[in-house]
Amino acid sequence: MTKFIFITGGVVSSLGKGIASSSIACLLQESNFKVRIRKLDPYLNIDPGTMSPSQHGEVFVTDDGAETDMDLGHYERFTGIISKKSDNITTGKIYSEVLKKERRGIYLGSTVQVIPHVTDEIKHFIKADLNKEDFVICEIGGTVGDIESLPFLEAIRQLRNELDRENTCFIHLTLIPFINASNEFKTKPTQHSVKELLSVGIQPDILLCRTPKSISKQSKQKISLFCNIPFESVIMAVDVNSIYQVPESLHKEQIEKRIFSHFKIKPKQKIDLKSWKKFNKKINKAKGEIEIALVGKYQNSSESYKSLNEALFHSGVFNDVKINLKWIDSTSLKNSSYCKDLLSLADAILVPGGFGKRGVEGKINAIKFAKVNNKPFLGICFGMQLAVIEAMRCIKGYEDASSSEFGKCKTPVIALINEWQKNTKIHKVDKKNLGGSMRLGSYNSILKKNTKIFKIYNKVNITERHRHRYEVNKNYISILEENGTIFSGMSPDKKLAEVLERSDHPWFVGVQYHPELKSTPFKPHPIFNSFIKSTYFLKKEL
Ligand code: GLN
Repeated sequence: MTKFIFITGGVVSSLGKGIASSSIACLLQESNFKVRIRKLDPYLNIDPGTMSPSQHGEVFVTDDGAETDMDLGHYERFTGIISKKSDNITTGKIYSEVLKKERRGIYLGSTVQVIPHVTDEIKHFIKADLNKEDFVICEIGGTVGDIESLPFLEAIRQLRNELDRENTCFIHLTLIPFINASNEFKTKPTQHSVKELLSVGIQPDILLCRTPKSISKQSKQKISLFCNIPFESVIMAVDVNSIYQVPESLHKEQIEKRIFSHFKIKPKQKIDLKSWKKFNKKINKAKGEIEIALVGKYQNSSESYKSLNEALFHSGVFNDVKINLKWIDSTSLKNSSYCKDLLSLADAILVPGGFGKRGVEGKINAIKFAKVNNKPFLGICFGMQLAVIEAMRCIKGYEDASSSEFGKCKTPVIALINEWQKNTKIHKVDKKNLGGSMRLGSYNSILKKNTKIFKIYNKVNITERHRHRYEVNKNYISILEENGTIFSGMSPDKKLAEVLERSDHPWFVGVQYHPELKSTPFKPHPIFNSFIKSTYFLKKEL
């Protein structure tokens, strides 16, 4: 029978529940078990698609087209298990299901309530769409004590009763702060957090304590005593330099042993974590470094562009190149002289995905700067669309080219499909109903032979994940091609541009999709590998 591991967090947010869940999944996988990881998010949005990434972090897109929490990105990167729509649920989605059922008369006769109707729906989600997994890890978003997460905690409390202790395990992640002034660790916040969990009927089986450094045996004994948890099940999660060291660090603390002992099962295989050790050793072995200017508009960029940061990091490690990212606020790139000041020292320029008009002209200036100065350029989604606009504006008579995303324009070289294609049935967009109205998830592209992108992938057929509403207006493709832009990747029906490049530039590539979503430490993405390798090579040549 499938075993369920529930991971909750206490004391403060941002303790790394996502990384802990991913690392535990990876240790179970290394013990040769089949695992799924799911995230239960307490917010009321149906999905994070309409939330600002500067508030909630990146929106991670799955192959099957769901806009999900960025923790699903960690799950995929750590385990290689491809996430599905059914792996992320929000309070919004749960309530909308319950309300739909209420209108359909499914609950006819009863008063619809949080318990049992909402909790039943949560339990249904936790157990749905599984395929003989040995373990399902469910991360509960938020921090214990939040009003929003109460129905989720109640649902997992009920599941323990229904499925038994032998099939469910509660892991609680807390913080043990170190107080410099008194030179001691403080266990009280953890005690309070466990008390809070107990008040909703959950006694954690394993405590995972995040600490800045190893704590003494006495402190551990104190936690064990006060939190009513066996000494061996109080596990330290000591701060490490890279998230990719967490599986090794939790393995050293023998967390998987505690999990197996809780479930009374034996691992199917001895863990060696060879590939993780190799990757972590390589992190510090860079032969050189490059600086990449990321031209965007979001604050909190490391969270807003999580997958991009990680993908660049993976390829940097793969190529033995340390990557220094320099975030440039596009609103400050007002003209070419600002570009010269802010971008000259960068070895490459990357314009990532984005939405809306603000800062767009600065991004276009940065693209022009990369083009004219032969700096390697990678445009992702919005970055690719803006490279198309830049190229179009260089053609006489089309200096006003733009995207209909920014309002009406005479040359909408980027536009909604139904704005440039009559009688189309696909990708219709209702501008008044923006939630879930994008081209989302995996789509195929066909690459042209003898192009840079073909050399990068070394195949004709590729599948990549998309998240956008606007497309390159097909009516302008031939004039762009006559003027130096090569559309080297198209959708299988040849209507939608997927990849562009330039023959007059050492490395200038724009992709309509998001390659960063598929990069993992052990399988870095070929586009980033090529971008970094070429940038390093060109830098050395200078
Ligand atoms: N705003 C653009 C669109 O919706 C690009 C989106 C993106 O970069 N993800 O088409």
